[in-house]
Amino acid sequence: MSDLADFTVTAAAAGLRSGDFSSVELLEAVHKRAAMTEANLHAYLTIDRDGAARGAVAADSALKKGTAHGPLHGIPVALKDNMVTRGLETTASSKILSGYLPPYDGTAVTRLREGGAVIFGKTNLDEFAMGSSTENSAYGPSRNPWDPERVPGGSSGGSAAAVAAGSALVGFGSDTGGSIRQPAALCGIVGMKPTYGLVSRYGLIAFASSLDQIGPLTRTVEDSVAALEVVGGHDPADSTSYPGAVPDYRSGLKSGVAGLRVGVVAELNGAGIDPAVQAAVDQTVAQLEEAGATIVELSLPSIEYALSAYYLIAPAECSANLARFDGVRYGLRRLGENVEEMMSNTRADGFGPEVTRRILLGTYALSAGYYDAFYGQAQRVRTLIIQDFQAAYQQADVLVSPTSPTTAFKLGDRTQDPLSMYLSDVCTIPSNMSGDPAISVPIGVDADGMPIGFQVMAPALGEPVMFRVAAEVERQAGFTVRARHASSEVVT
Ligand code: GLN
Repeated sequence: MSDLADFTVTAAAAGLRSGDFSSVELLEAVHKRAAMTEANLHAYLTIDRDGAARGAVAADSALKKGTAHGPLHGIPVALKDNMVTRGLETTASSKILSGYLPPYDGTAVTRLREGGAVIFGKTNLDEFAMGSSTENSAYGPSRNPWDPERVPGGSSGGSAAAVAAGSALVGFGSDTGGSIRQPAALCGIVGMKPTYGLVSRYGLIAFASSLDQIGPLTRTVEDSVAALEVVGGHDPADSTSYPGAVPDYRSGLKSGVAGLRVGVVAELNGAGIDPAVQAAVDQTVAQLEEAGATIVELSLPSIEYALSAYYLIAPAECSANLARFDGVRYGLRRLGENVEEMMSNTRADGFGPEVTRRILLGTYALSAGYYDAFYGQAQRVRTLIIQDFQAAYQQADVLVSPTSPTTAFKLGDRTQDPLSMYLSDVCTIPSNMSGDPAISVPIGVDADGMPIGFQVMAPALGEPVMFRVAAEVERQAGFTVRARHASSEVVT
C-alpha cells in the first residue's frame, strides 16, 4: 500500500470505513512523515502526541461500532495556532501568549472533535496572523516543502506546509486578507476562504473581526468540501454567524462549467503579475472556455484601492482587538513601578515588530481628528468595492485571477520592506473586503518548479458554483504532484 500520509481526506475516509486501515495506523504514518520533515519545515509549534493518540483510538472504536460521524472522522488534522484548543497551548505565534492554555475549544474545533477528527497539532503562523510568509512568527519561520530556501506563504504557512508535505491530511487556517489562499498557492495545494459568517469565529483569536474567516487547506477540491461540511454552519456564539442552512456543495463537483460565465478581472490580471504566473492563469482560462464556459472581461475599478483601504481597516480593528493583551488577563507579564508601566513593558516585550507597527497604524487611523480622513474614508472605499463586486456578479457567475502575483519567494527577500510583503495579497484582499468566498487551486509550476495558484471568487454564499468551477480547474490542470521530496533533506 502506498504511504497513508499521502492519501487525500476522501480516500483515507473511504479506507477507514472499509477497514483497509485504522485511524491509529493513519496517525502513525503522519507521525512518521512529520519526524522526517519537521526539522526542515517547522510547520508545527505543537504536536499533541497524547491527545492525537486518544483521538485515533476513539475514532477507531466508533468506526467498529458503526457510529462514525462525518467526512473527517479518524483523519489527522492540523490547526493554525490562533484557533483556541482546550488545554493545548495556543500562542498565535506571539511571545505574549507563550504558555497560554485556553479553557475552551473554539466552535470549529468543537465541530471537528464531534466529527471524529484527530487533532494532530498546532501550526506556525505570522504573529497574530499578520504577514504573508510566517517570517513574523516569534518562534521562527516555516519553510516551503517544494524548496526549503523559500517561504510557504502566510499567515497560515504552517498549515499549508504540513498539508503539502504530508504531516497532516487537512489543515485549517484563517484568512483576513489572503492568509489561507496565498500559502495554499505557494505550497501547491487548495485553500478556501468561505463567505464571511459561514464558519464561526468563536475561539479564533481576533485580528480584524470584520474580515477574519476560518477555512480549510487541502490537497483536493473535494477534500475542501469535506472540511467545510464539518466546520460550517450557524453558531449562536458568534453574532456575525450566518443563520441559514448550509447548502449542498458536492452535487456540482462533476457538473463541469458549460453554460457558466467566468469573469476575468482586469485589475487583478496582467500588470504587476509575474509573467509565468499570468501565462498559467491565461491557459487555465482558455481551458475553461474550451470546457464550455463563457469568458467575460470585467473591470472593478475600486479594487485598485482595496490594498490601501485594507491597511487602514485591518490595523484599526487589530489595535482594538489586541488591547486585551495587557499583562493582566493572559500570558506574559513584565512588572513595572505601576500598572501602566507593567502594561507598557509587557506589550513592548510581548509583541513583535510587525504587530507593533499594525497597532500603531491602527491607533493613528482611529484617533480623533484623523478618524474620518483615514478609517472613515477606508470604509467608504470598502462600500465601493462591495458595489463593484455586486455589479460584476450580474455579468459573471464567478470571477478569476491569479491567487498571488508571484510564486514562493526566498526567506528574507521581503522582510526589510513591509510594502513589498503587503503586495503579496493584492489579489486576495478584495474578497475579504466584500465578505465573499474565494478558493485557490494549484494549476502548475514556474521555471523554478514552484507552484502557481488560480483564484476562483464567487458572490456571498456562492460556494456551490465556486467549488464547481474549482473542480473543473483541478481536472483541467491535472496537478497531482506532491512536495514531500524536497522536505526529506534537512537544510542546515
Ligand atoms: N498578509 C495580510 C496581512 O498581513 C493578510 C493576513 C491574513 O489574512 N491573516 O494582513
